[in-house]
Amino acid sequence: MTGSVHDIAIVGGGIVGLATARSVLRADPRRRVAVLEKEADVARHQSGHNSGVVHSGIYYRPGSLKARLCSTGRRSILAFAREHDIAFEVTGKLIVATRPDELDELASLEARGRDHGLAVRRLSPAEVAAHEPHVACIAALHVAETAIVDFGEIARKLRDEVLELGGEVRTSTSVVRIEAAGGTHRLDTTGEDVESHVLVNCAGLQADLVARATGVDPPARILPFRGEYMALRPTAAPLVRGLVYPVPDPALPFLGVHLTRGIDGSVHAGPNAVLALAREGYRWRDVAPAELWDALGSPALRHLAARNVAAGANEVLRSLFRRRFVADLQRLVPELRRSDLTRSTAGVRAQAVLPDGSLVDDFLIVERPSELHVINAPSPAATSSLAIGEELARRIGR
Ligand SMILES: Cc1cc2nc3c(=O)[nH]c(=O)nc-3n(C[C@H](O)[C@H](O)[C@H](O)COP(=O)(O)OP(=O)(O)OC[C@H]3O[C@@H](n4cnc5c(N)ncnc54)[C@H](O)[C@@H]3O)c2cc1C
Repeated sequence: MTGSVHDIAIVGGGIVGLATARSVLRADPRRRVAVLEKEADVARHQSGHNSGVVHSGIYYRPGSLKARLCSTGRRSILAFAREHDIAFEVTGKLIVATRPDELDELASLEARGRDHGLAVRRLSPAEVAAHEPHVACIAALHVAETAIVDFGEIARKLRDEVLELGGEVRTSTSVVRIEAAGGTHRLDTTGEDVESHVLVNCAGLQADLVARATGVDPPARILPFRGEYMALRPTAAPLVRGLVYPVPDPALPFLGVHLTRGIDGSVHAGPNAVLALAREGYRWRDVAPAELWDALGSPALRHLAARNVAAGANEVLRSLFRRRFVADLQRLVPELRRSDLTRSTAGVRAQAVLPDGSLVDDFLIVERPSELHVINAPSPAATSSLAIGEELARRIGR
């Protein structure tokens, strides 16, 4: 059974899908927009399981979509939080070098930060102590613009706005089959089926599968990387005042295990990055044999594994043995003890990987007539979500 034809159907009620619906409706409230979300509520996957950091944009290659959309998205998300009384704090962050071989990368980041117009400042260990008395380093960068917020709360507020603007957000509605014919898409779902002129795929961890369901052969496949967090016990939380990051390894896509004080005041350490055994595998015991088999048979994973044996093994060890996790954190805060940490939540990142095993670095949007597929929207896509939504709405309107 289908109802009347929608103008736009958006698959995925994460922060990107909801931001897109809002942008479309703000531009033209007469449009019939439906967001289809398979879970019982919005933001149940990446948008509700992340570090809650509004990134400054310092890491991203000038000219990339990430650089542009993070810069405008950061401002928009803070303005949105202000407008809707959602708690946020512009804490700034420290990127700390603990070894001489990290100084070149720290200098590159400093230069890039200035190119992006950010307020970056090189700090000596004594100056770092004024910000973070328990952090050990040989040099650091302070980036003033970084902030913290609860992206799940942002997503829920976006849902409310979409509804107020006359859009639909249908939860517990999994899109199981898509057929495109005669200028419309027919979406078979586990709820009421939907017909729509335009289809926007914001399905996160499932984005390549949804693209395939429409007949698109996406240039990359999604591999799920679980990021596990540990929480500092309240007695140890005073060891960290704000956000403390290591100098990232430029060869790897993730930022390294860091310490973040969240908007609720709790301090988390992580996330690591281990290949999840299911697309939505939040624990080691979450195994989806068919998905795993499919991933293991893919050239993308074979090549990726061959290139990153050491880094991958280190991540697995760090996941299995708390001692390894703690040792990495002690490079940043030597006073931290194993007993200061308890296991906490995990999130699963949707990372697009090319068949040659290289990770897609930038946001990747595949366009087809009357279809948009967001194939790669990893961090900082939560920070950038309102800007990504504007970008997708603009492309739909073209
Ligand atoms: C551990 C971790 C830490 C991170 N830290 C940060 C950070 O500090 N700052 C930052 O900016 N970003 C961060 N990110 C990245 C950020 O969370 C994501 O980039 C962002 O949430 C992506 O949003 P999304 O809407 O694309 O995906 P999602 O939030 O995953 O939403 C996709 C939705 O699609 C739904 N869906 C999938 N298939 C179907 C289907 N067939 N039918 C219906 N619905 C479907 C899913 O249920 C899901 O709700 C982090 C991510 C992780 C995992």
